Amino acid sequence: MKAAGWFIHPSEHLQPKQTSLEDGEAYIARKDIINIFTDGSKTEYGVGAAFCVLTNDIWAYQWSAKLNDNNTVFQAELTALLEAVIYASHLPNHNTSNIHVDNRASIMASSNSKSTNETARKIFKILLSNPRIKVSWVKAHAGNIGNERADQLAKDATQHGQPYSHTKLPKPYIKGLLRKRMLEVWQTSWKNGDTGRKIYNIMPSVSLRPTNWIREDVIFFSQHGPFPAYLKRFHLSDNDYCSCGGIGTALHYATECIYTVSWNMRKPAPNFEQECLKRVANNLVSRQRIRGIIKFISENRDLFRPP
Ligand SMILES: [Zn+2]
Repeated sequence: MKAAGWFIHPSEHLQPKQTSLEDGEAYIARKDIINIFTDGSKTEYGVGAAFCVLTNDIWAYQWSAKLNDNNTVFQAELTALLEAVIYASHLPNHNTSNIHVDNRASIMASSNSKSTNETARKIFKILLSNPRIKVSWVKAHAGNIGNERADQLAKDATQHGQPYSHTKLPKPYIKGLLRKRMLEVWQTSWKNGDTGRKIYNIMPSVSLRPTNWIREDVIFFSQHGPFPAYLKRFHLSDNDYCSCGGIGTALHYATECIYTVSWNMRKPAPNFEQECLKRVANNLVSRQRIRGIIKFISENRDLFRPP
């Protein structure tokens, strides 16, 4: 589910400069500030998130976890930031902390009270009630000691990290999964159904792509149309004869009726009817003939009614 709209009252703001896209390097030298570094990583082994805490030149704490392989690196960045703000919010009240993030997109999402991202919203809420937690940007791969360490922790976590399941899977992945499942269910019911078997014979696989069938094709291949055999079956006529004397099935008009002789194709042996219809459906020239026949029958119904 995607969150939408304001999730806090518009009058509630973060502190001025509580989050910043400027480089926060200057905070690192300050002894009165707890510096926290976050990073997310996606490698061939998986997705990892991490943060580490620098207090008075000492690595005081570190956290890392392995996300689901289908999570994005952006989700990993946000997860690292969320865990870091949760950690910082539990620090004694007099501490000011600065979280260094090398991903501007996650800083922006977390500063936006209308963000649609659930994790970003959680971060925003914690920042809102903890004005002593600041977030700033740090340039990645620029030799910043904390950023390098967080980067390494996140990379290691892609392989050996503790599994982390609080971050939801990305929406496109879920959609793909649901589409696949839906197609499987549809395919099973199409395969095992007992209606539409004539079409099933021609199109055994379900698909979300539109077919190139037009109305005439549907009428012919479903054999639901102005054919005496069909009309009889549905009690719309009391006999199934064509006015030529043959039994008026769709195949009759395609292969043997004298009234449609200019479009006729070779009549298949009785055992090969299904095979023949399938071939006709997959051949554009044959399809054109079929369309001609159906148009002709539809426009000259009187001709096909037995006298
Ligand atoms: Zn006929």
